[in-house]
Amino acid sequence: MTDFSRRVEQVSISGIREVFEAAGEDAINLGIGQPDFPTPEHARQAAVDAIEAGDGDAYTSNKGIIELREAIAEKHARDNDLDIDPENIIATAGGSEALHLAMEAHVDAGEEVIFPDPGFVAYDALTHVAGGTPRPVPLRDDLTLDPAAVEEAITDDTAAFIINSPGNPTGAVQSTEDIKEFARIADEHDVLCISDEVYEHIVFEGEHRTPMEFAESDNVIIVNACSKSYSMTGWRLGWVTGPHERIERMLRVHQYVQACASAPAQYAAEGALSGPQDSVDKMVDAFEQRRDVVLDGLTDMGLSVPTPEGAFYAMPEVPEGWADEVLERGVVVVPGEAFGDHGEGYARLSYATDMESLKEAIEIMREATAAVQ
Ligand code: PLP
Repeated sequence: MTDFSRRVEQVSISGIREVFEAAGEDAINLGIGQPDFPTPEHARQAAVDAIEAGDGDAYTSNKGIIELREAIAEKHARDNDLDIDPENIIATAGGSEALHLAMEAHVDAGEEVIFPDPGFVAYDALTHVAGGTPRPVPLRDDLTLDPAAVEEAITDDTAAFIINSPGNPTGAVQSTEDIKEFARIADEHDVLCISDEVYEHIVFEGEHRTPMEFAESDNVIIVNACSKSYSMTGWRLGWVTGPHERIERMLRVHQYVQACASAPAQYAAEGALSGPQDSVDKMVDAFEQRRDVVLDGLTDMGLSVPTPEGAFYAMPEVPEGWADEVLERGVVVVPGEAFGDHGEGYARLSYATDMESLKEAIEIMREATAAVQ
């Protein structure tokens, strides 16, 4: 059994899984990348109604039901001031499939994809799956991606650059000036910008802006999902939107690898996007309170951590052996190197867990910090 593709041989199993597996059952898990809130009731009910009516039984159009694509277009008008034709939206199996389609449709063998390091684990993996070459770019000290560093990394072989704000694993939110710069780079260098906006709604300071607002060319596509904003990771529902020709190319891949996103999940997503949004606000308020507690705790134990302005992650700089020491004491965190070479010396903490456990975890981390320093 040696005849595996070279592309897949370059993809490793995510380091995050390994950490989960090493943790005991009673461990406090700060490794999780999903909100600890239920899916809004009205979203669930929309799926139940669709199932009971028999609407979830069959394939939908490849792009997804028109009601969902209209709800997504409406969301972009409401939140991003964008005028998007529902025909230029594909409902996907989570943001993950949307990223996959973007890569498959735009990256040729040997072409380069630029992305943040540390960054979301799929960027490197999906670049390899598409036959491309990863070009990770180290972050600034505040863990944001520097547009100048992206611009410098562009070569004749660059197929795309990926930005992710708010960011995983950093919690960093790019400034509006940065976002404008990314749009300019996409325009001037005629290179595709894939904007991963799955944490769009989880912002505590500043505001979420998308390069699609500012770009003058057809070089921006947005990847988004219901997963994080509506606590719907299990439903597997995301989308990609962009200029018609790009969507048409992505559809060529989607129609054969997925046919369509799960029909009941599409109804749930339509319910989430077009129903009341108060559950999002409540979740974001809870995340902000926890963020403050985590930030205070880490700072107080002497660790340096840029203030995370969004998502539900904090990424402190940690002494060598810290993550292992913390894990041995019963708290799961993810070592920074799981997110790229430049993640070394950091750890990612997810605060998508209840306040009591968080406070307990902070005390354990305090002891671990004292032990390794
Ligand atoms: N993009 C980022 C930055 C993520 O953190 C994740 C999930 O963790 C995804 C995309 C994929 O999301 P989904 O669960 O919708 O596939």
